[in-house]
Amino acid sequence: MRRISLFFVVIAGLIVASPAAFAGPAKSEPSLQAKSSAKSSDRFSGFIERLWPQARAQGVSRTTFDAAFKGVTPDAEVIALTKKQSEFVKPIWEYLASATSSARLERGQRVMREYEQAVSAVEAHYGVDRSVILGVWGMETNFGSYTGGKDVIHSLATLASVGYRSTYFRDELINALLILEERHVARADFKGSWAGAMGQTQFMPSSFWRFAEDFDGDGHKDIWKSVPDALASTANYLKENGWRSGQPWGFEVTLPKGFDYRVHDASFAEWRMRGVTRADGQALPQDGQASVSYPAGADGPIFLVTSNFNVIKRYNASDAYALGVANLGDLLQGGSGIQAAWPTEDPLLAISQRIELQRALMRLGYDVGKADGLIGSRTREALRDFQERAGLRPDGYPNRRVLEALKLN
Ligand code: CA
Repeated sequence: MRRISLFFVVIAGLIVASPAAFAGPAKSEPSLQAKSSAKSSDRFSGFIERLWPQARAQGVSRTTFDAAFKGVTPDAEVIALTKKQSEFVKPIWEYLASATSSARLERGQRVMREYEQAVSAVEAHYGVDRSVILGVWGMETNFGSYTGGKDVIHSLATLASVGYRSTYFRDELINALLILEERHVARADFKGSWAGAMGQTQFMPSSFWRFAEDFDGDGHKDIWKSVPDALASTANYLKENGWRSGQPWGFEVTLPKGFDYRVHDASFAEWRMRGVTRADGQALPQDGQASVSYPAGADGPIFLVTSNFNVIKRYNASDAYALGVANLGDLLQGGSGIQAAWPTEDPLLAISQRIELQRALMRLGYDVGKADGLIGSRTREALRDFQERAGLRPDGYPNRRVLEALKLN
């Protein structure tokens, strides 16, 4: 995984054992608070001591190790963020509106002109559309204007020291130390998000080692300050994850009357035969395969998406995110944006209602994995099957209508 999606962390926060030592607002007396803080600080130094042999075995020098941890103490804010949880899900239309705000589009147009040469060179070298490279850049860091101000070592060591998500952050911490060892970035500039996603690409340290590129040829893979390096690293990430040159991510479509909602994956030739047309009036491609996607159900905008859409999701496994990248990129290239109206009057299900819906599907014998409130492909598939049997349009969209129908069963 390239990075921890915020949503995953939010949900994971529900099930992770509470690392009480340096948690949130203390209710205890000041003296107790001081004791507890001293204890957590001991625990943290113990963790760093035990980390050294593993770091050394993987090639970290003592000088780098000491410089990395100099003055580093546990970060209570990072721990608090792992526990932040929300009962409400942000509607996709609000998410997309902020993803493609006029301020972001203006900044995008400006950086596109400023870095035209680098964008063209990266697009040609990796065979990845500039619209998607720019879309990722804009979604991740607002084109480099917000990359997170947390010290990477500080955040990762805090998460690793409490065993958050098992050994994942410990491994990322070692990878981070190796980045310092090879001097790709100065110690003082080693910044990222609270969960350790770094620079303009928001790569985790392990992704840095797999995908980061030195495109400007100065000997450093500088995803923090070099725009050519950052753009090339993003393009390389997409290419290595299976981006197919010359294939679109997809587009918005209009379905004909009497459309057979049971079909969800077909060749473009078959979609054409079934009367599906592009919302912008252009012709469907001659070759290729695409799935139909209903991010807000069949009453909202509908898309045909190709395997390249799933490559964008390798960056962040969320349909809303991938649609944000795709839409932002299209708008920057002069596209007209999403045409159909979003069903804003149809209230979204809260997490607890999503869990209720999954439990109801399980009672009917469907395998939806764990009832965790996350609507993944298995829940959607089960919903489609249930909707079809209940005489509803099988779009796999979890709204109140389908929840009510499920409760009657
Ligand atoms: Ca470089």
